[in-house]
Amino acid sequence: MNVLVLNCGSSSVKYQLIEADTQKWLAKGGIERIGMSGATLKNIRHDGDEITIAGEIVDHIVAIEYILAVLLSRNHGVINDKSDIHAIGHRVVHGGETFSSSVLITDEVIKSIRENFEIAPLHNPHNLRGINACQVNLPGTPQVAVFDTAFHQQMPRKAFLYGLPYSLYSQYKIRRYGFHGASHRYVSERVAMLMNTELKQLKLITCHLGNGCSMAAINDGISVDTTMGFTPLEGLLMGTRSGDIDPSIILYIMGKEGITLAEANTLLNKHSGLQGISGVSSDMREIVQEMKNGDKKAKYAFDVFCYRIKKYIGSYAAAMGGLDAVVFTGGIGENSVDVRKDCCDGMAYFGIRIDDAVNESKEKEKLISTADSKTKVFVIPTNEELVIAVDTKTIVQTKQ
Ligand code: ADP
Repeated sequence: MNVLVLNCGSSSVKYQLIEADTQKWLAKGGIERIGMSGATLKNIRHDGDEITIAGEIVDHIVAIEYILAVLLSRNHGVINDKSDIHAIGHRVVHGGETFSSSVLITDEVIKSIRENFEIAPLHNPHNLRGINACQVNLPGTPQVAVFDTAFHQQMPRKAFLYGLPYSLYSQYKIRRYGFHGASHRYVSERVAMLMNTELKQLKLITCHLGNGCSMAAINDGISVDTTMGFTPLEGLLMGTRSGDIDPSIILYIMGKEGITLAEANTLLNKHSGLQGISGVSSDMREIVQEMKNGDKKAKYAFDVFCYRIKKYIGSYAAAMGGLDAVVFTGGIGENSVDVRKDCCDGMAYFGIRIDDAVNESKEKEKLISTADSKTKVFVIPTNEELVIAVDTKTIVQTKQ
């Protein structure tokens, strides 16, 4: 079954066409700058053929038209007919408390995704635009929603409730949701395979470190706690997001500088994190480079980033009453030798010992802890698209 996997943002669409039975991708790419001048589509075919097309891509409907055109094209395509796309799998950010697993998209599901606009205004509207664009371009093709929040829906109440009046939870559903669910799920399943152990018998901490960063404590295959909260702002330091702060700080700054709610939102989401502390960049590669060149603020940013991960490793091991393995994934987790080393440094009392040579080796998927390390440490490239493709196939086949 060929599944078109889509991740629709406000001005971008990322896609992969995956042959779900063999788990191989046929083509992948992305569109940037939808609705702006200079919009482009970049497509990579499984055999390495690459093409970039510029065009007037005014909205998500046109974006899907462009994707279909390249997938069908004689010179760069991989399919002969639209009907060769058997199903579509969408990454949908917020499933609220309604969805604890992936679902076939129906009118009812669309209504629920819309109901969650209020708690996910930056993501759900664009995800839904992608769903509507597929209804227009590929009418009748089954569509499945895979939610970022679903994997964390079994978290116990003591982990998801905030110390706020309970009525705010009952009335507005203010609670911890957690995100990056497909990634935490993928790497936890993969690490169980690599350890040759049932996922249900493992206590894991998964660290998804990309532009957005989150960690999850996974006990018996269930996410029992995670660092992102009501929104993806909480927890770890990120590229441009603050992660954990004392909430009073924002009230204090609003009083001092008279900033508006929208400006406060931008401050926390766009001008903080690695970028905010360093003043150099939100990109970990540049932070490490500048730190090594002696830039003090880049070093502060790097230290805060790693310290917070280390702190959460300790607290999640305490929460689960033990720890079998830590997994690093995402652009930083998969590639930054320095971040992995710093996060695991001085953790021998915790049973964590890193083998520096393996940590520095070029292999993508690897065990980087030493043979005598009680807690194993892995690097596993994430594959959220594959999770979406496999869920989509399973759901569509059971409904047929
Ligand atoms: P997104 O969350 O947008 O999917 P990614 O998972 O691709 O992002 O991660 C982006 C981050 O990964 C950036 O901070 C980038 O600097 C970092 N990164 C990518 N390659 C390396 C590398 N070789 N060393 C350190 N950081 C890296």
